[in-house]
Amino acid sequence: MQLNVNDSHNVNSPSQKDLQIRVAELAVDEFLVLSGQEGHFIQTYHNSNGTYQLELRQGSSEQHFFVDPKEITVEHIERAFQLFMQESSDLNAVLDWQLLTLGSDVVSVDDDVPAPDDALVEYHGVLMSADWPQEIEEAQERLHYIMHGERWDRLPLPVASNQSEPDELCQECGVRVTQFHVPGCGQEECPRCHGKLVECSCEIDVD
Ligand SMILES: [Zn+2]
Ligand SMILES: [Zn+2]
Repeated sequence: MQLNVNDSHNVNSPSQKDLQIRVAELAVDEFLVLSGQEGHFIQTYHNSNGTYQLELRQGSSEQHFFVDPKEITVEHIERAFQLFMQESSDLNAVLDWQLLTLGSDVVSVDDDVPAPDDALVEYHGVLMSADWPQEIEEAQERLHYIMHGERWDRLPLPVASNQSEPDELCQECGVRVTQFHVPGCGQEECPRCHGKLVECSCEIDVD
């Protein structure tokens, strides 16, 4: 089994204690995915209102279940993750699982199962089209622009001056603070003139 903590790191073969701590310490807007064999996982996301999303997939998108966030607490999440890790059939009995109907709701991020093109996924706690997380990852590899024959280091989304919301995301392209915007994002600052890159008169040279 593998525990993915907010896409920032993975814990291989987590212990019961690991699970308990990770669930208990899961901050708002963070998620955990515990994966077993291919297509089998349980995941939770800590909503900004304090409740938890809890979803269970048992092999395919037709076997994808969720629990009403209003009916569960962090203790339920802990218990569900532990039962999943033990591969206990009690997992199906202890919670009121409801079938997540395909197309009517959100398809979850799952590396093993490619989401359909028109699906929404949750990434950084926001909903976006299924191929967008890939765009964000690729944007991080583009470190500079060549403009007017000179190399300019790209400017990432700056840390918000309002420190009460340190996890702020770009409202347009969904990257986190300190990440580079997806090229073409209207919020990206031009490294050359410090205007908005999509509006300024600087030109990016084609490589
Ligand atoms: Zn952006
Ligand atoms: Zn410019």
